[in-house]
Amino acid sequence: SLVPAPGVTPPRALTIAGSDSGGGAGLQADLRTFACCGVHGMTAVTAVTVQNSVGVSGFTEMPADVVAAQIRAVATDIGVDAAKTGMLASTEIISAVADACDAVGIGGSDATPFVVDPVAASMHGDPLLHSDALDALRGLLFPRATLVTPNLDEVRLLVGVDVTEPSGLRKAARAVHELGPRWVLIKAGHLAGAPDCVDVLYDGSEFVELPGPRVDTAHTHGGGDTLASAITSALAHGMDLVDAVRFGKRFVLRAVRESYPLGAGVGPVSPLW
Ligand code: PLP
Repeated sequence: SLVPAPGVTPPRALTIAGSDSGGGAGLQADLRTFACCGVHGMTAVTAVTVQNSVGVSGFTEMPADVVAAQIRAVATDIGVDAAKTGMLASTEIISAVADACDAVGIGGSDATPFVVDPVAASMHGDPLLHSDALDALRGLLFPRATLVTPNLDEVRLLVGVDVTEPSGLRKAARAVHELGPRWVLIKAGHLAGAPDCVDVLYDGSEFVELPGPRVDTAHTHGGGDTLASAITSALAHGMDLVDAVRFGKRFVLRAVRESYPLGAGVGPVSPLW
């Protein structure tokens, strides 16, 4: 069971991510997911977005040294069983995150599991990462990652591979894996057409195909964040990576099925159970 015993310290997970003022995505979705998964959630805030269901109208970055200090503060006292990244905004923040994670043993070889969700833009197309920060994401963070979780838009941005058919997913996984993460999960949800979609998980030698049904809903805000946080929660509980990804997919499927309208735009998948 993922429910911790009363009075016993539960697994501890850290999200290094941005705030969504609308409460549907970003660190708010991460914390809700951690709580649903019986995990104590901690935050290193990278940026504050001004956002509602209609879109992101702007954001302010935290100073990079403050992001690093949050990571060090929680890691040295509370401890971190697994960590994830969401919106990182800039090269300076990515570089500070990579250094801080190195210093406290998050990611890298034989260390605390580290999930890197390469968030580049909101579903409305509003940028959440400066375009000159892609090099830092690829060069400084991917080599530290236990798992990276790009969708097909992010695959195109990161490695220039344009996937238009399911047969292109393995090529995309190989190209992203070349950048140095231990595992790659290519999320196929943006592939049009098929009644179900098959994500591809790859560790450099073996492909794991992960089918899932396509859910008909307009309310998908925060879906990527929720998946990455559920996987991170499972890793914090000590699950191995393939089981953690299977758990994350089941979790986000339920969240998508229970998504709800909010405001005039797109509602969230954030779990409320
Ligand atoms: N806002 C923040 C702070 C995020 O981190 C993210 C995604 O990671 C989003 C918005 C975008 O979510 P979506 O693309 O689901 O609208």
